[in-house]
Amino acid sequence: MSQNGDNHSLSNTSQSLTAIPLGGLGEFGMNMLALRLGDAIIVIDAGMMFPESELLGVDLVIPDITYLKQNRALVKAIVLTHGHEDHIGALPYILRDLNVPIYGTRFTLALVKKRLEEAGLIDSTTLREVIPGRLVEIDPFEIEFIPVTHSTIDCVALAIRTPLGVIIHTGDFKIDQTPVGGAPFDLHTFARYGNEGVLALFSDSTNVERPGFTPSERAVVPRLEDLCRSAPRRVVLSCFASSIHRIQQVIDIASRVGRKVAFVGRSMVDNIEIAHSMDYLRIPDGMVVRPQDIRSFDPKRLVILASGSQAEPMSSMSRIAVDNHRFVSVDENDTVILSARIIPGNEKPIFRMLDNMFRRRALVYYENSAGTIHVSGHASQEEQKLILQLCKPKYFIPVHGEYRHLFRHAALAHQLGCVSGEILLMEDGQVVEFTEDRAYRRDPVTAGRVLVDSGSLEEIEEAVVRDRKHLSEDGVLVPIIAIDKHTGRMDMQPEIVTRGMFSDNGQELMAGARDIVLKTVEQSNSEEKMDWSVMKEKIRVDLKRYINKHTSKRPLILPVILEV
Ligand SMILES: [Zn+2]
Ligand SMILES: [Zn+2]
Repeated sequence: MSQNGDNHSLSNTSQSLTAIPLGGLGEFGMNMLALRLGDAIIVIDAGMMFPESELLGVDLVIPDITYLKQNRALVKAIVLTHGHEDHIGALPYILRDLNVPIYGTRFTLALVKKRLEEAGLIDSTTLREVIPGRLVEIDPFEIEFIPVTHSTIDCVALAIRTPLGVIIHTGDFKIDQTPVGGAPFDLHTFARYGNEGVLALFSDSTNVERPGFTPSERAVVPRLEDLCRSAPRRVVLSCFASSIHRIQQVIDIASRVGRKVAFVGRSMVDNIEIAHSMDYLRIPDGMVVRPQDIRSFDPKRLVILASGSQAEPMSSMSRIAVDNHRFVSVDENDTVILSARIIPGNEKPIFRMLDNMFRRRALVYYENSAGTIHVSGHASQEEQKLILQLCKPKYFIPVHGEYRHLFRHAALAHQLGCVSGEILLMEDGQVVEFTEDRAYRRDPVTAGRVLVDSGSLEEIEEAVVRDRKHLSEDGVLVPIIAIDKHTGRMDMQPEIVTRGMFSDNGQELMAGARDIVLKTVEQSNSEEKMDWSVMKEKIRVDLKRYINKHTSKRPLILPVILEV
């Protein structure tokens, strides 16, 4: 059977199809993959990721889209698989450079709309809603949106038909046999494409380190119901605000055990409003207690859903944990449930928050040590194998993960032996071209991360972050001198201001530093003294040598010269 088992423009064999990953291959987050067919490019997802703590003052990280900017005229569309931040979060930043139509399902676009409204970009952006199970033509591509299950709603995989064959991109998925509402995972369509012939499969590697199957979303019900039923007082439960299925189950459980629900936290309230208005969330009448009524409501009859499961600063959970929330406090015998994964990197703030809950003598439940209160939204090994077996691709490219995840996913595919051509381990910026008979590695394109300050929407240069890191480690030293513009003489003793260098007395050292500055100025000739950039550099170099000799620190040295 031909890999081009369809009758679409088979005559055009000179066309080339390239895949250009720009994010999510080598890290978790900022997912983005460009597909180029001749002179047309589509972009799959435009995600962000949260910065590691070394990136001081950076609010978020997005992919470098230099390649797309260089080929701006060729980019036809951005196609979204689902509404998680690691798939849509970069949109407000990249649409300024790349104003192209965005395709996504109803709920995904509702979340996008919210982001674009906040960024003032909604009027200038074209949003095109797609229906799972239907075909959409984005010339020269034809895309089928395949319903998949995951930890949020309205998620799709993509089957992208090209003259060279069909590309399948799974998006994020797990295979949930008993999903909570919504469409089931459409295994049949994957199988149909597999029978027809799949040129390349791009599949989610997130949970490749886990054997077996990821449990169904429904697996959390028994333990959560048990906890809500037996809780002596109020229940405060936190999950991701996008976990609409989890929220639905908590509402259903509350209703069964005779409790009402209250929602606190902006992202939680926003997402619940959106999902409810679109009928993705069923909330019985009279079920909701307003935040301002929480304090006066019988604590034995209440479940509070709060955002901030990762202990984000200023989030509801972080505030509640230190009695700093307007409407909610946690008291002795209240139940606190963290129904979410503790994302690596967030352990410190999360455990600090939980410690504060314990200090208040709350009954605290987190992770699954005492029964299943959270399940993952990503496929484990057996589900990943199933997708590989169904698609039987010619080429397989693992996506969504750090390098070891991609590597292990490749190894899993190798073990199965169902990839007829080649398994390609790729990282961001590496390019592969598919032709009629093989796949070629091509020259890499610019790729990487762009650091963003979410307040100003400005890009932060790596050099700025380096300075911040430097400041945080070694402090700053500012020598201040006053030079008479006419005589070239110093009119006062140099002053030295430091921050972040000494906890008590660096006085002796600073007296020495003043002498250094004096000597540097005295030993300069009158022309140098008139050129302040030269003087600043001389002072900086001499002080640096002095400080290095006497301490292990390398402070940022910023000479200031006052004109008198
Ligand atoms: Zn996701
Ligand atoms: Zn994701």
